[in-house]
This record gives sequence, structure tokens and C-alpha cells, in this order.
Amino acid sequence: MGEKENGKLLTLGVDLGGTKVETALVDASGRILASRRRLTHPEKGSDGVIAEIVACVEGCVGEAGKEARGLGVGVAGQVDRSGTVRFGPNLGWHNVPLGVRLEEALGMPVVVINDVNAATWGEWQHGAGRGVDDLVCLFVGTGVGGGIISGGRLLEGCHNTAGELGHMTIVNGGRHCHCPNRGCLEAYAGGWAIAERAQEAARADPQSGQRLVTLAGSIQQISAATVTQAYREGDAMANRLVEETAQYLAAGVVSIVNAFNPCLLILGGGVIQGLPDYVSAIERPVRENALKAAVESLQIVTAALGDKAGVIGAAALARNTITKSA
Ligand SMILES: [Zn+2]
Repeated sequence: MGEKENGKLLTLGVDLGGTKVETALVDASGRILASRRRLTHPEKGSDGVIAEIVACVEGCVGEAGKEARGLGVGVAGQVDRSGTVRFGPNLGWHNVPLGVRLEEALGMPVVVINDVNAATWGEWQHGAGRGVDDLVCLFVGTGVGGGIISGGRLLEGCHNTAGELGHMTIVNGGRHCHCPNRGCLEAYAGGWAIAERAQEAARADPQSGQRLVTLAGSIQQISAATVTQAYREGDAMANRLVEETAQYLAAGVVSIVNAFNPCLLILGGGVIQGLPDYVSAIERPVRENALKAAVESLQIVTAALGDKAGVIGAAALARNTITKSA
């Protein structure tokens, strides 16, 4: 395929989660030409969800009046190299051959990967990581996930599950995680864990926790967003929670940069978007505590594509796959 033809080629990206499916038609520069967002209905089974994806794709292509040559899908879950979703907890899926099913329905090549790896592709190809071939993305949202680009390739691992950076142990025997382990980075810095820690703190010291409870309505309703809001108001307990979260994040990032020696660490996800102060807060402890050689050329930046990283990255992955096989 000629470079000129490749430059005009359009691909589709899908970001499939437990609550919504987002679809976009994307050009070679990562620009979104048309997009669709729908709520997913996992209770209708995989057939229903696949029909929703097909409807979104047809809506996008119809709106733009242009043809797409391939489709990339990022799914919240474990995906094997054949495009089968081995386990998608939010969708209630086990062994759904999503890639094959969508190829049959749409008549175009389809590639399927994990949603966090799709977002990593997006930041690498069109976001904060453009032109950098050794980078790590760490997405801190409700959960914590990551993706590793090493030597210009996405690190996949033996069973295509590499990049689960949220489940590195930072406190041996520490807080319970949603995985079988305890003390994971996610169990301290994920949005659900920040909420748990804040609720515990407010219960232990009701007087200091008063502002958090007032903002949330009750102790049980305190969320990571409540902590951010109280922190912005200068609340002392929220300030302490944010400082501790930054320390946990820094501990995780020290291990990440020691292990992978990226040129660039990109921090994204809802918790970071809500409070970008985390990026500057971890800078010093990471530089002090990581191996000197590992941080010598390291830059730490904020993700550029926000919640569009997944669709843009999935479309970029589809483009890469088509171009390679042409
Ligand atoms: Zn874990």
C-alpha cells in the first residue's frame, strides 16, 4: 500500500466497557470524524452487545459518508491474540469470539485488545507519547491499569496480559485488592480505594472528616471525587489523603521506571484528570528513590487524549494491522 493511500485510509475504533460502548471513525492523524456513544446492556448477552456495536459502527460510517477499512476494539477484560475475550468481568463474558463475530457482521478486518492497551496505543500514536518508542502509560481511574511500549512495540507477554501495573504489590500484606492479592497499587490509589480509605478516615475521626461527609451526604457516599473537592477547599483530612495517595503512586512509579526504564511516563485516568497535582507531586519522590540511571532521561507528563484515548488507539491499531498485512 502506498504511503499516500495509507494516509487517506480511515479506520474505526471501539471502546467497549460494562456501561457504555463508544465508537469513532478516525483518520491517519488521529482526528475523530464521527462518533457514537451508547449504553451497553450486558444483561442481553453477547449477541445484544455485538448488535449495539454494529449499530454504532453503521451510524458513524453513515454520518461521515465515508468508508472504513478496518476496526479496532478495546475491551475491558482479558483478550487473547485471536480476538476472543477470555474474561470480561464488567460484561459478564467468558470466551466470546468478539473479533470473528464482528468480522462476520461487518465484512472488514477486526483487531481486539484490552481497553487499557488500546488507550496506550492512542497516547503513543496520537497523544502525549508521539514519537517516543519507550514509554509507559499508567491510567489511574476507578481501577489502575497500564500499558508498556518498549522498543517501539506494545509489550504483550506470554498470554497477552502484560501491563497490569495496578496489581504490583507496594505494601506486603496490605489492603485487600479486587484481585487475589493484598497491598496492590490499585488497592491504595485506585478511585475505589481512595474512597475506602477516605471513608475509614472519616469514621475514625468524625470531627476532621466532617467536611467530607457534608460534601458527600454520608460516610458511605464519600468518593475519590469528594476527596478532590474537599482538597481544593483546603480541607486538612482531604489534604492528608491526597498526600498519602501521591506517596503510594510514587512508590508504584519507582518500581515501574526501575523495571522498564521508559523515556516517558504518561499519567492518565479519571483520578489524575480530576487532580493533575498528582503528576507534579510524584516527581520528586520518584527521582529521589528510583535508580539514578532509570530516571536520568525520564519525563513525567499528563495524558493528552482524555477519555478518547481508547477509541483513537483502537483505530490506530487497526490501521497498523491493515498496513502491515497489505
Ligand atoms: Zn490487585
